[in-house]
Amino acid sequence: MARSYVHEARRRGLGRRRERVPAIVARLSEEHADARIALRFRSDLDLLVSVMLSAQTTDTNVNRVTEQLFQKYREPEDYLAVPVEELERDIYATGFFRQKTKAIRGTMRVLIEEFDGVVPKTLEELMRLPGVARKTANVVAAELGNAQGIVVDTHVRRLSQRLALTRREDPVKIERDLMRVVPRAAWALFPHLLIWHGRRVCDARRPLCEACVIEELCPSSRIARDR
Ligand code: SF4
Repeated sequence: MARSYVHEARRRGLGRRRERVPAIVARLSEEHADARIALRFRSDLDLLVSVMLSAQTTDTNVNRVTEQLFQKYREPEDYLAVPVEELERDIYATGFFRQKTKAIRGTMRVLIEEFDGVVPKTLEELMRLPGVARKTANVVAAELGNAQGIVVDTHVRRLSQRLALTRREDPVKIERDLMRVVPRAAWALFPHLLIWHGRRVCDARRPLCEACVIEELCPSSRIARDR
């Protein structure tokens, strides 16, 4: 399906990806001026833990849990000072609590041993933390002001394909395609724009093309197809 969007973009003379992207960024920035990470955190450590907890659940759910959690656990050592079961109980509501507890405790150990308890800022270092995969590392690095890649989640994947910015399915390959066409200065913002546009307008099943500010830049527009 993504392949046909690429073809359609060419057929409709929408311009090359590199030319369309700045316009897409400008229009979405205006439309979703509030687009930013929905997780709540007060420190780099809170950010890292929030992102780790957000796997397979909603940001709202994570925020509900972390409101109490971050009062109790303020330093990496705090996560290791309690029995495993206690931390499991404290994050239970985010789901997959056993794996998440294991990942968080492993991460805290490495943070203390290798990084003096400070959350590192590079992707490479972040990915050395147990349970921190590329997506988590990308989110954290971007929020710390050092985006070195582009976060690809389900919304970013769907919208990138619909906008014919990629024809790939694999998140790592999609990210590579996006890094070629999105200006580096927009790497941190771009996924937030697509995520918010995906939530509010470009729904997976029922995209609201008639209300979409990038409709004329989109080869998947339902309106355009009927013309
Ligand atoms: S025109 Fe439709 S398919 Fe394209 S981005 Fe907008 S809502 Fe999504």
